[in-house]
Amino acid sequence: MAVKYCTGKRSPASNTRRMAHTTNTVSSRSSDAFPYQQNLAVQQLLQSNSAHSSNAVGTVSRRSSLPPNLHSAPADPRAVVDTADTRASGYLASASIFSFLDSMMLGMSMSTASSTSYQAYLDRFDLPEQQGARFRNRFSGTTYATSNEAQQQELESLSTRYENLQAYLDGGIRYLSNNTSALTIGGCRDRCSANPGWGAWTCSERSARAIALCPPFWSATAGEQATMIVHELAHMRYQIRNHNAGNARQRGSNPECYASYIADLFGFSSYSNQCPRV
Ligand SMILES: [Zn+2]
Repeated sequence: MAVKYCTGKRSPASNTRRMAHTTNTVSSRSSDAFPYQQNLAVQQLLQSNSAHSSNAVGTVSRRSSLPPNLHSAPADPRAVVDTADTRASGYLASASIFSFLDSMMLGMSMSTASSTSYQAYLDRFDLPEQQGARFRNRFSGTTYATSNEAQQQELESLSTRYENLQAYLDGGIRYLSNNTSALTIGGCRDRCSANPGWGAWTCSERSARAIALCPPFWSATAGEQATMIVHELAHMRYQIRNHNAGNARQRGSNPECYASYIADLFGFSSYSNQCPRV
């Protein structure tokens, strides 16, 4: 059965079941900088991608519906979405690279102590769960003799997952500006105004390929907008329905953990607080 899911802060009325943790995050509005030296090359890549976004290099479907000056959208919503979409693609590429590097470092017994991305993995996904005397890669189900080995394999799996999310995004996404009218995405039907905390929503179906953008999307920072897109992509690509963060296994199936990892990697706050740090 299809289930619709959101990128949301706590909704005042109906949405508590979907959110295990609802403490409000303090958004850092001046947070579009990239404070980490290790990400300099990636930063340059992203900036060069963003520079081209007005020429519609991104993956925003022509069947998108982005009317100007409606639903709190600006005069040129398409340009905002182009930028956010391109930025999300760059972030996913970076996340794939950094998780792969961390996997390699663990494999070579190099210190990960100074790795921002390794810390983000620990903070947002937690350590692999122990099963008896062994340690489980939650993304593949395979178990290993040591936690170090399981982490190494998990980071490699995570790298592949980010790559898959980027490939899914690059296949084209229909963006639909939404507020009070009910929309159908895949087998789901909803509207933003019924869930005031939502920044965006989608359907947990791989064939959905559409994201509804709610009024808060338009006033979010560029980083928040991009991570909202990452969050919704994870719902669709991996048919994820939950936002639980109570243990490592749940975090591996929580779309916001994928988004918050990226926010940590680049040093800003994600829009959603559905994957608090461990
Ligand atoms: Zn969600």
